[in-house]
Amino acid sequence: MFFIFGYGPRTTDLGPDVERNCPNCNNRRLWHRFEERNWVSLFFIPVIPTGRKRRTVCPVCNFGYED
Ligand SMILES: [Zn+2]
Repeated sequence: MFFIFGYGPRTTDLGPDVERNCPNCNNRRLWHRFEERNWVSLFFIPVIPTGRKRRTVCPVCNFGYED
């Protein structure tokens, strides 16, 4: 018997944040919040989350902050 393991990130959109002026592209837009997690998967099914990062991102140029 053998197992197939994989590893990779998955991003979840947590919805809109507040309206901000982007310091990178100077547009004023509603920024978006994302959660990025790395998953260990077994037979292509994610089973174990190994890390979590939250980011707030400008929708125009993808510049963002980690929080
Ligand atoms: Zn921007």
